[in-house]
Amino acid sequence: MGSDTFMKSASKITLGENEIPDHWYNIVADMPNPPHPVLGPDGNPVTPDMLAPLFASGVIEQEVSAERWIPIPDEVREIYRLWRPSPLHRARRLEATLGTPAKIYYKNEGVSPAGSHKPNSAVAQAYYNKQDGIKKLVTETGAGQWGSSLALAGQMFGLEVLVYMVKISYEQKPFRRSMMQTWGADVVASPSDQTQAGRDILTQDPASNGSLGVAISEAVEIAATSEDTNYALGSVLNHVLLHQTVIGLEAKKQFEKVGGYPDMIFAPCGGGSNFGGAAFPFFADKAAGKPVRLVAVEPTSCPTLSRGHYAYDFGDVAGTTPLTKMYTLGHDFMPPGIHAGGLRYHGDSALVSQLCHEGLVEAQAINQLATFEAGVTFAQQEGIVPAPESNHAIAAVIQEAIHCKETGEGKTLFFNLSGHGHFDMAAYDRYFTGELEDYEYPEEDIKNALARLPKV
Ligand SMILES: *Cc1c(COP(=O)(O)O)cnc(C)c1O
Repeated sequence: MGSDTFMKSASKITLGENEIPDHWYNIVADMPNPPHPVLGPDGNPVTPDMLAPLFASGVIEQEVSAERWIPIPDEVREIYRLWRPSPLHRARRLEATLGTPAKIYYKNEGVSPAGSHKPNSAVAQAYYNKQDGIKKLVTETGAGQWGSSLALAGQMFGLEVLVYMVKISYEQKPFRRSMMQTWGADVVASPSDQTQAGRDILTQDPASNGSLGVAISEAVEIAATSEDTNYALGSVLNHVLLHQTVIGLEAKKQFEKVGGYPDMIFAPCGGGSNFGGAAFPFFADKAAGKPVRLVAVEPTSCPTLSRGHYAYDFGDVAGTTPLTKMYTLGHDFMPPGIHAGGLRYHGDSALVSQLCHEGLVEAQAINQLATFEAGVTFAQQEGIVPAPESNHAIAAVIQEAIHCKETGEGKTLFFNLSGHGHFDMAAYDRYFTGELEDYEYPEEDIKNALARLPKV
């Protein structure tokens, strides 16, 4: 085979380390409408100085920036080099099994040390905090992916890391905890008795499984009350989505190499960071008229974008964070214990929410069993065992590929394989033994949440 033919039939499209992006892409510059302001407790817009007790100055600037391109510091690119650029794969065996004329591509973010896309932002956040002379970062983690990523990043820049881990995950995923400890972090099960927010929840419900909303309240409380400690959030905020755009920027270069371009882009969506990271760089072309469709995929048990209210709400259960306009199931949302697949946050990124509200981003919710079925099919064809979160995107892609088979369309489908599932085998076990069930979040609960939204 000549090299051209060889590239056209490539299974894996790689870039050199010198092709790691040197700027992040800020979608705000290309959005048809400016983002809604974030509001403080008095209903007035939050100013950057109000965020200073919690966040590094570098990330606060990024949070409110409307610059299209933001330089990636060399120190951050230097660490990205440990695993970036991540490969773009063509899922040829999956295509063949489905018998679809569609071309299926995926970006493998599971190659990072923590096993997901999350270090892309953790490394950047640790860097900016180090720049500001911060000694310690405190955060929350649900399934453990973000906590491990921040533990890794803290270790790389010499920062202490304290992680409040949602109690049910702390118990179900002990090896995520030991991974965080390997990278030097302290891990506490949330709700804990270390914070007022945690004690309040334990008084109401001593057996509480915890939730991301509770763990955020605990982490924010610690950061707000100590001088040399800052808070770090693994998703949702504009700067986190910004950092993740290295995924889509690399993917665009990789598609150029094979002369392709996606018709549809899929990513699992919890707080929106890997979706924003994979899809936003393509939005620039969409804004310029290219008909690319961007699809955020979420669980039916936490259907924030597809069934939530588009309204101002708090980011945490105690109502300590500023108010953002976003799709929300209510800040007191408690995920059903039966749900195994992550993506359990009650709200979503303000940017993703606004684009979804304006019809520029689509949302799709998928039932739990279908996501695991898709993940197993993928693993059997492509080899990689995906994270349960990633299975949501895979299920949506498989559905679309089957649809293409019926219509005979040779669409190019691209999805973000946001992580591997090596620490999630207990969830796969529960799927294999039939312990998992489908669960649709009740309409009643969605209606009731509306009444408890803050009045703005
Ligand atoms: C955290 C996580 C997600 C979802 O989070 P987003 O904020 O929506 O990116 C998806 N996949 C994996 C593997 C994750 O760790």
